[in-house]
Amino acid sequence: MSTMTAPYHLMNNYARWPIQLVKGEGNRVWDESGREYLDFISGIAVASLGHVPPKVARKLHEQVDTLWHCSNLFHIPQQNILAAKLSKLSGLDRALFCNSGAEANEGLIKLARRYAQKVKGTDRYEIITFGQSFHGRTMATLTATGQEKVKEGFLPLPAGFVTVPYNDLEAVRAAVNEKTCAIMLELVQGEGGVHPAEPSFVTGLRQLCDEHGLLLLIDEVQTGIGRTGTWFAFQQYGVMPDAISLAKGLGSGFPVGAVLATEEAAQAFSPGSHGTTFGGNPLAMAAAIATVETIEEDGYLDRVNQLHELLVSRLQQLRSAHPDKVAQVRGKGLLLGMELSIPAADVIERVREKGVLLMLAGPQVVRMLPSFVTTEAEVERVASVLDEVLAEV
Ligand SMILES: *Cc1c(COP(=O)(O)O)cnc(C)c1O
Repeated sequence: MSTMTAPYHLMNNYARWPIQLVKGEGNRVWDESGREYLDFISGIAVASLGHVPPKVARKLHEQVDTLWHCSNLFHIPQQNILAAKLSKLSGLDRALFCNSGAEANEGLIKLARRYAQKVKGTDRYEIITFGQSFHGRTMATLTATGQEKVKEGFLPLPAGFVTVPYNDLEAVRAAVNEKTCAIMLELVQGEGGVHPAEPSFVTGLRQLCDEHGLLLLIDEVQTGIGRTGTWFAFQQYGVMPDAISLAKGLGSGFPVGAVLATEEAAQAFSPGSHGTTFGGNPLAMAAAIATVETIEEDGYLDRVNQLHELLVSRLQQLRSAHPDKVAQVRGKGLLLGMELSIPAADVIERVREKGVLLMLAGPQVVRMLPSFVTTEAEVERVASVLDEVLAEV
């Protein structure tokens, strides 16, 4: 059993589970008592290649012995390599590297305002965002987030954001005014309950942006880098965004974020207009380059799509077997949600007691974010554990 002491010297800002993990390998993690868990969370869509993926570990080891940090006073060759790779994969010309999802979204927000004000010479600043979205915990990104609970106690909030219902094109059209500079959204709302955007909504947003000279900003922090079965979720919608943010899956667990933008939108930033001390340092770039190369060379996008088919069909079977408890299965790639008609926390806890890690996405949604190295047997194990637990509750 756990021998944890109360973490008195830590701030009390997380509702943590009573487990401390001390080791990981592939899809398995171990707590300090040696108990093993099958991990279908992947550090919240971060460890997409599993824990301690060997090729990434090797590249990081090499970089640890070479140069860790030098600052953006210097050219950093690994940034050029990663930027070129991400540009080839996304069709977006230019990259800026940072350290987290929230920081990448701050970058999107600053890019959109500065593009409107410095490139276009307007006084536009307002960004339209969506109900149930999640964009991060900094002051601007929590304001952009369409969930009241993340804003409580942080007033006054920065001006310049309006939130309208997701998948409601008419609401967006009505919200556009002479102050609007951009529309910002997730294509699958991860934290907000695993809700995919409708294709006609997304193409409609692109048209609206073109009509009004707005930037279309896509938050791919959770959906990007293969998680939804394509490199970026926007590639399944037949639209080209003006800029996107990346973070979670980019570095396999090494903290790294990015903003990618078209040549046109990237004009917003000139020397001195935006920056970060740590962003894009050689260690982070080594982790990200190795992650992207491994996904590419080892064909993991196909694997994500195969695993999606298998996992969704098993979850649909659970829905048929427990129609009073499972309401809906949704999501893209390996970002999946199972909406229950009962509280999901109890189900997740019971599943965890049986050695499988799943997480919430809202009070009644079980979220699954398995790694791309998941096996068929592991999918079966999760499905059978869920089957047992759904019969119990
Ligand atoms: C996790 C997440 C963020 C915030 O990323 P952090 O690295 O925690 O700052 C922003 N947007 C989306 C869609 C996310 O899933």
